[in-house]
Parts: sequence; C-alpha cells; structure tokens
Amino acid sequence: MTDSTEKGGTDAAGAMADESVPRAEVGAGLAFLHGAVGTALLQGVEAQAHLYALTELLIARGVIPLKEFERRKAAAMKSTTDEAMEQWQGAQVFPDESDKYDVEPVDIDCLQRMGLCHAACCRLEFNLSRQDVAEGVVRWDFAQPYKIKHRDDGWCSHCDPATKTCGVRDHRPIVCRQYDCRQDARIWVDFERRIPNPELAKLAGK
Ligand code: SF4
Ligand code: SF4
Repeated sequence: MTDSTEKGGTDAAGAMADESVPRAEVGAGLAFLHGAVGTALLQGVEAQAHLYALTELLIARGVIPLKEFERRKAAAMKSTTDEAMEQWQGAQVFPDESDKYDVEPVDIDCLQRMGLCHAACCRLEFNLSRQDVAEGVVRWDFAQPYKIKHRDDGWCSHCDPATKTCGVRDHRPIVCRQYDCRQDARIWVDFERRIPNPELAKLAGK
C-alpha cells in the first residue's frame, strides 16, 4: 500500500481507465440491488395493506376519531422520516477530501517484507474517496458502495495475484498512500524485528 518504489509494480491505470467494466460485474451488482429493493418494496406494501385495513376498520367502527387520527399520522410521519434520514448511511466514501496526488506517501521497504506480510495490507477493507470514485480508475464493490473491490481470494482486485504489486500504483487511493502498517497488529507483532502476525502465515502460497 505504501510508496515503496520496489512494491510499485506496473501502473496499468491508463489501460484500466479505457477498459470498460465487465458486463458480468455490472450485472451482478444490479441484480443484488434489484433483489434488495424488490424485497424491501414488497415488505413495505404488505405492511401498508395491513395498516390500511386495520385503520379503516377502527375508523368505520368509531373506535378512532378521524381528525385525531390524521393529526397523529402527520406527526408520526415527520418523526419517522427524520429518524430514517438520520440512520441512512447509504453509500459511504472515505471522508478525507484531500487531493491524493498532494499526499506524501508512507515509505516502507515492502518488497523486502512481502515474504512475511504477503501484502496483507491489500486485503484490508476501506472506502474510496470521492476523488477515486470520480476518477473511475480504482474499482469499487458495486454491492457495497464505495468499498474497494476485492477478488474472491480476498486481495484487492488491483493487487497482482502473482507478484502482489499494485496495478494502479500511480492512481492508488489516498488510504493506500497514507496507510502505515508498522503499528498495525493485524500485520506485525514487531515491525523492526520483522515478526509478522502469525495469522498471516495462512496466506503463504495463496
Ligand atoms: S489499490 Fe489495492 S493493490 Fe493498490 S495499494 Fe491499494 S489496496 Fe493495494
Ligand atoms: S503490509 Fe506493510 S510491508 Fe507489507 S506490503 Fe503492506 S505496507 Fe508493505
């Protein structure tokens, strides 16, 4: 994730910018979205039907005074909407709005360490910034906007499976530029003494 020239890899960003997003990937993202929206819609319609039927019955039988009901409905509608808007997180971006190209990247001797860390930093989850999304080079996960896209093997989709180098180095997100693994216990027990987290041994050969 860092600025090590040794872990730089090839920057295929130019090519990737021109490359259209695979249709299967878009299709999977849209299918997920359509499924989730469809389920929520049907559940909402069913709940609404129950409520209408119940309310009509109670009003018809004189249990609920209509005017009082309308007043309470308007108040409940407002508080429910306010609460929903507060809870809605929707798509999330990394909050730092700095220009990533102005950021001084952390410098670590990655290539000398990758036999130990297996580039585990490129398996971490994080959100892209607005700049990354607008730039359209770094892929995000359509099912979890705007998390960086991982492959099925767990590494970032831009991390070369064989060399573990970054395929979009010149355009990599601000998170990758700023990330410092030295104090990250998920990666190192002792960075200086080159002792990785024992859990990372499971990644060897993957
Ligand atoms: S973009 Fe992906 S491969 Fe490149 S440094 Fe960031 S996490 Fe690693
Ligand atoms: S975990 Fe640290 S040493 Fe390993 S590739 Fe990532 S930044 Fe470099």
